[in-house]
Amino acid sequence: MIIHLKNDVSKAVKHEIAAKYEAVELFKDDKTILITPCSLKNIDGKYLEYIDESWVFDNDIQLASKKYRSDIQEIKIGNLAIGGQHRNTIIIIGPCGVESEEQIELTADFINKCGLHTLRAGSFKPRTSPYSFQGMGIEGLKLLAGMRDKYGFPIVTEVRDSSHIDAVIEYADVIQIGAKSMYDHGILRKCGKTNKPILLKRGFGSTLQEFVQAAEFILSGGNQNVMLCERGIRTFESKTRFTLDLCGVAYLKANINLPVILDPSHAMGYAYGVPDLARACMAMDVDGLLIEVHPDPSVAKSDASQQLNHDEFKLLFESLKHIAKAVNRNII
Ligand code: PEP
Ligand code: MN
Repeated sequence: MIIHLKNDVSKAVKHEIAAKYEAVELFKDDKTILITPCSLKNIDGKYLEYIDESWVFDNDIQLASKKYRSDIQEIKIGNLAIGGQHRNTIIIIGPCGVESEEQIELTADFINKCGLHTLRAGSFKPRTSPYSFQGMGIEGLKLLAGMRDKYGFPIVTEVRDSSHIDAVIEYADVIQIGAKSMYDHGILRKCGKTNKPILLKRGFGSTLQEFVQAAEFILSGGNQNVMLCERGIRTFESKTRFTLDLCGVAYLKANINLPVILDPSHAMGYAYGVPDLARACMAMDVDGLLIEVHPDPSVAKSDASQQLNHDEFKLLFESLKHIAKAVNRNII
């Protein structure tokens, strides 16, 4: 249950109600909001005088539910905005990982020439093998920050674990939580304590319920700036890397009040399929696309098989513009 308390309720009463119902307390816009487990359906009559409004739920998707708030959360990314009343679709491109100054300069210059504005690359890479490239760490964050200084691009970069999360929060404009970290409560809780936008990727073995519940950790921690990123789930199919759950996207759009970003690159795993999939993603009328683009994918140190080169992206981008128009979206 979500409970909005009246503004004049004393601290002692707030704490009494919170303790009685084992509620999480959230302070937002001068309001105290209590979120109890969803099993609570009724409040003791003696507390009703302290309550402004309340919502009952049948599961623990609460703050993110359209039943609670029907409008999509507006998220500001640098000078850009998605969600809210906007019809914007942000196209977030860049290589899987920051690999060198030259690579990141070439990428930033390309983004600028495309007329796009957001640069994404990981510098702390959560890899499947400890023997693969792990990312450039802080050095990479500095290179990204340099591109923000030069071009004014907001930077999207991922946090691998809570040991370096403060640095990522300091350098990034958007903090990406990768699929493998979706359950990392150290990261989720810390992201709840910053106001920076969070791009939360769906764990590839997670249900939609679990995915949105992970977002609830950030929301109930105090940060409402959460974007949900569908990047493919593991199915029995092995010809493609993952299976992009577009049905899940339809569910999220209908039921959840957070912007949705689609990542065709990690879902497909192979560059040849990314353009078609990206077009399908744009047709889903979503708030953003995340596409991996590398100046020379053949030498990429991670996710080499799925990254588009600049010419391939340019071609795709032209067709995305038509689809955006058809679904009444502005590409930003
Ligand atoms: C990435 O975005 O480069 C990445 C590692 O993605 P995911 O967490 O979805 O596997
Ligand atoms: Mn990648």
